[in-house]
Amino acid sequence: MGHGWEGAVLRLLRAKDFALTVTASERLTPDYVRLRVTGGGLLDASGTLPTTWVRLWFRRGGRPHQRAYTLVDPDPASGTFSLDFALHAGTAADWARAARPGDTIEATVHGAPLTPPQPEPAQLLLIGDTAALPALNSLLDAHPDTPATVWFETRGPGDADLPVRVRPGPHTLLRVPRERAGARLVEEVRATLPRYLGAPADAWAWIACDTSTTRALATHLRAALPAPRRQVRAQGYWRP
Ligand SMILES: Cc1cc2nc3c(=O)[nH]c(=O)nc-3n(C[C@H](O)[C@H](O)[C@H](O)COP(=O)(O)OP(=O)(O)OC[C@H]3O[C@@H](n4cnc5c(N)ncnc54)[C@H](O)[C@@H]3O)c2cc1C
Repeated sequence: MGHGWEGAVLRLLRAKDFALTVTASERLTPDYVRLRVTGGGLLDASGTLPTTWVRLWFRRGGRPHQRAYTLVDPDPASGTFSLDFALHAGTAADWARAARPGDTIEATVHGAPLTPPQPEPAQLLLIGDTAALPALNSLLDAHPDTPATVWFETRGPGDADLPVRVRPGPHTLLRVPRERAGARLVEEVRATLPRYLGAPADAWAWIACDTSTTRALATHLRAALPAPRRQVRAQGYWRP
């Protein structure tokens, strides 16, 4: 598939293209699907740092569209990984809903991976929704013994069954139903942060929700932590 002007710009930036092949599809919940894929060498280019994501290319209305998705359980030895899709109305979600073993999709690797927090934080503050679940889980896997508080925004009762990789002991999971376009999550974080925040100088915050919720939360966390440039990472994952 030609990738239009966006693809041309990415090529100039030395982005690399790969063909992924679906090998399995698993409905984790009615609104969430996991596709296992062979990566066609993608992992050699992307690496496997926590939160690593790729651009997938979809065709709609005769034009290419790129969407970002996060690597799940990448296995460099076999070159395979999974992609988790929160399902809603949308080009990427529709493709994932219908994808079957043997289907292919093009992917581009471009974008700096997350710089791991340095020094190792004493506490993680992780805030995300179902689109951010793969990235949240990759951070929990990478810091299994670091105390972490996770504010996880859910869309409905089905999301209760989604696998959030918290470990009893170091990790605390707070599920927050999505209400008023994310306003409830912002209120809950504001109200409960004082209870869960240890020493502000030793915490590291990661935020990924819809764009406006992410902005509001990032503003709050930047005011709460003394070195926000080092201590707060925030990225809007989708536009409401
Ligand atoms: C770095 C990065 C990594 C990401 N990783 C993942 C991932 O691993 N898994 C994942 O599911 N998503 C992930 N996302 C989010 C995903 O790229 C967006 O949700 C994307 O817009 C979905 O494309 P679409 O074609 O299905 O819907 P679009 O055509 O973009 O949107 C169609 C409609 O759906 C709404 N919509 C879009 N996304 C959502 C959502 N998540 N929840 C509810 N409504 C939505 C839009 O507001 C719009 O009304 C990531 C985003 C970024 C920036």
